[in-house]
Amino acid sequence: MASHPQSGQPSTPSAKPMRAPRIEADKKYRANHLEAVRKHDRERKRKWHAEHVAEHRRLVRLWRYNNPELARAKDWRNRVRRKRCKHKNGGSFTASQWTELKQRYQNRCLCCHRSETALLQLGLKLVPDHVLALVKGGTNDISNIQPLCHGTEGCNNKKGTLHIDYRGAVEQRTSESTKAT
Ligand SMILES: [Zn+2]
Repeated sequence: MASHPQSGQPSTPSAKPMRAPRIEADKKYRANHLEAVRKHDRERKRKWHAEHVAEHRRLVRLWRYNNPELARAKDWRNRVRRKRCKHKNGGSFTASQWTELKQRYQNRCLCCHRSETALLQLGLKLVPDHVLALVKGGTNDISNIQPLCHGTEGCNNKKGTLHIDYRGAVEQRTSESTKAT
């Protein structure tokens, strides 16, 4: 089984034991090359995630189950971070703008195309997703919003902070079908 490259992150009891504490020279190297080391770590993590999507999800679930208080604290930190970003990046939309946007796309999730009614029956919700995530500098303006489903295995949850715009493909399909008729 693949082990998670980042220590302190979700891992199974059978995962490899934690690495021995870093020796002084290693610590010094990290301190002197902080940006490069962080970039390397980020790339390594991204590669691991891309190759082990299902495994990562399973590990996260297991970690959350075993560390409910840490998970709650993490959720809280994320909420605060999002709120700060929202305030910093600016933009806003009204409830009626959100309703109009959903109607424009037939009240469907732009990724899996399931209708809001079908989603509700499955315990999922149709939520405003930030095309460019708030934490990546996206604004809270309606022009940066797309309807995606949210919940267990929801498209919004899978997308995370990735920059994926589903609106273009849907608009294109709609205009093609209008042309065909
Ligand atoms: Zn969906």
